Amino acid sequence: MDHATPSLPTALLLGPFAGGPHGAWVILHLVAVAGLTVLTQVGGLVYWVAVGAARAAGRGWLVVPVFLVLYGVVSAAVLPVAAPAAGRVPLPCLSGLNLEPASPLFCLLNRHYVRPKVAEVAFDVAGDLARQFPGTRVAFLDGAFPFLDAFPILPHLTHNDGRKLDLALFYEGRAAGGAWPLGYLAFAPGAAVAGEACPEAGWRRWDAAWLQPLFADAVLDQARTAALVRALARHPDVGRVFFDGRLTWALGLDGEARIGRAGCHAARHDDHVHFRLR
Ligand SMILES: [Zn+2]
Repeated sequence: MDHATPSLPTALLLGPFAGGPHGAWVILHLVAVAGLTVLTQVGGLVYWVAVGAARAAGRGWLVVPVFLVLYGVVSAAVLPVAAPAAGRVPLPCLSGLNLEPASPLFCLLNRHYVRPKVAEVAFDVAGDLARQFPGTRVAFLDGAFPFLDAFPILPHLTHNDGRKLDLALFYEGRAAGGAWPLGYLAFAPGAAVAGEACPEAGWRRWDAAWLQPLFADAVLDQARTAALVRALARHPDVGRVFFDGRLTWALGLDGEARIGRAGCHAARHDDHVHFRLR
């Protein structure tokens, strides 16, 4: 060993910088810290601590296992208790309820935190849908991270304060919302209903054309999708619903006052519906 092993408290504080020069490893660890912070908020901090713990133990290979255990404990036991103090609650991560994550990934990455009122709206709407279409489960996508209003949840520009939530659209033959586990970017079924028409699309409009063959067999469930968007637009605690302009028209929702129509210069909203609190 070419340098002294640091004490545990020092190592936890210094993270990738603990225990003397580590050359390229420092940069790699810092990239991991930055990436995990952007993706999961607390993951970067947990990784920093895991690197420090591994350095204190003098065993570099411990970084990943220590990170996984710590991140699991923090996500499952610490955040659900700590976030309510910051005004946010986790949406339910188990499947089988009226409301569930489109995939476990949204919970694993801690992107399922919202203001309690948003959770109420989501449960109300899910209950409404389940009454109209028995067996139907509403699937949520990105909400917000557990803490800090100034911390955006990328790539969204507005999901920073826990007042917004995205819900998946419904597809024929699937009880739960969503065409695939990531929920977003399934545009092909909507295009079949409302047609493609954006000659001058803005930079925020991602078409992900390369991905669309994956959804060639997915058919938008128009009745359930319309009922979902309508239930959101009519909920007393909802201020605004963002949905694709052409789908709004195609699904007969143009009379709903609170639906904002995402045009060609906004992110596409024909793969999910977004709402925010009043
Ligand atoms: Zn959104």
